Amino acid sequence: MTQHVVVVGAGIVGVSTGIWLRRAGAEVTIVDRLGPGEGTSHGNAGVLAAVSMVPVTTPGLIPKAPGMLLSRDFPLYLRWGYLPRLMPWLMRYLANANDSDTRRIAKDLTPIVSDSVLQHRALVAELGLTKWVTDSDYCFAYRDRAAFEAEAYVWALRKTAGFEPQLIEGRDVLDYEPNISPDIKLLATLKDHGFIRDPGGYVRALAEAFKGIGGAIRTADVTDFDLRGGAIHGVETSTGRIACDDVVLATGVWSKPLMRKLGLNVPLEAERGYHIVYENAQGGPSRPTMVAAGKFVATPMTQGVRCAGVVELGGLEAGPSKAPLALLRKKTRATFPKMTATAEIEWLGHRPAPSDSLPLIGQIGSSRVFTAFGHHHIGLTGGPKTGRLIAGLVTGQPTNMDLSAYAPQRFA
Ligand SMILES: Cc1cc2nc3c(=O)[nH]c(=O)nc-3n(C[C@H](O)[C@H](O)[C@H](O)COP(=O)(O)OP(=O)(O)OC[C@H]3O[C@@H](n4cnc5c(N)ncnc54)[C@H](O)[C@@H]3O)c2cc1C
Repeated sequence: MTQHVVVVGAGIVGVSTGIWLRRAGAEVTIVDRLGPGEGTSHGNAGVLAAVSMVPVTTPGLIPKAPGMLLSRDFPLYLRWGYLPRLMPWLMRYLANANDSDTRRIAKDLTPIVSDSVLQHRALVAELGLTKWVTDSDYCFAYRDRAAFEAEAYVWALRKTAGFEPQLIEGRDVLDYEPNISPDIKLLATLKDHGFIRDPGGYVRALAEAFKGIGGAIRTADVTDFDLRGGAIHGVETSTGRIACDDVVLATGVWSKPLMRKLGLNVPLEAERGYHIVYENAQGGPSRPTMVAAGKFVATPMTQGVRCAGVVELGGLEAGPSKAPLALLRKKTRATFPKMTATAEIEWLGHRPAPSDSLPLIGQIGSSRVFTAFGHHHIGLTGGPKTGRLIAGLVTGQPTNMDLSAYAPQRFA
């Protein structure tokens, strides 16, 4: 009998999982309440950030955080009214801001991100979608050498993972990136990266290809699970029950209430981030450029230049705040002073942030419910690899990679 798998969530992680499950021979239904690519996967910076294995929680964050929050020029924000609800997660999150935990997390994130371009290429191969993946350098822009050296700790960890930048300074900066401000005196560039020029469109194209290889997609809200004898038999949805043999939860930042129904209290928060798309932009970057002083990436996309990033803690329910968007706009203007656009489109998104910065990839006990969420800043980068790992677990062809660090059971 063919195994029927329900994948909940049609972001980059869920759709990648669906494709790899179909390739492994399973019957697959993806269920999403909005449709493919409408969640966080819609608005990210599009970078296949193979180098992004270092978490936000690095040593020294705790003493620096109050100054960062009070500064009008630092891209870290807190909605103070949300602080009481945030506290339990925040305490656990900040407890990782030490050398040994940072090293452990970076080591465990490396296999999820470091071969990202290859994983995207493997995903799109034979689906007619190769044009969606663009090879490029990934460039980090600094005010000067001192600003670059202030991040020596992070760059040392990246070097340990095999990523060493080429430094471009002085007059060479403008040869490499002609539209960048003369105030940017150092670029640290990394080869063998890539980007997606329309992340939401990419997920929708993958979803169409998934249907093309026999997958089914349903629009419905998954509300509960039919668990009997410790094993899954189906999911309850807003449009009725779906019987299945296995479930994969790829519900990003919305996973917490579903996990609670399965008996696990996962410390998962929304790390809010913003983008502004400068439509039909002229005078912007020619490749994804991380503006270090603004903690955002400017990426040339189909629609224009998308500047995406900034961190705001404040939960899922509140609408967008003005200050992060104003800072994003100011830093963009300072970095690409000649850039023009026909319109500016704003967006607020929610990164799924577990307190230990590691995604949950694995099975909950022996329930045949699998988790594939919690990818924080790196979901586009690591989505296809995660989908492949999960498909192997579900269909009994597990990888030889040690997945214990990602086990959902760590929150039991
Ligand atoms: C500003 C910003 C910039 C970023 N830049 C990058 C970047 O450059 N590179 C990178 O790798 N990552 C980046 N990220 C992170 C990345 O976007 C996320 O990690 C990734 O999109 C998460 O994908 P996902 O599939 O897990 O979740 P999502 O894309 O959020 O998908 C989850 C889906 O689950 C559905 N869902 C939830 N609950 C239910 C339910 N009960 N029933 C049915 N459906 C449900 C939702 O509708 C949604 O479609 C960025 C994020 C932000 C906010």
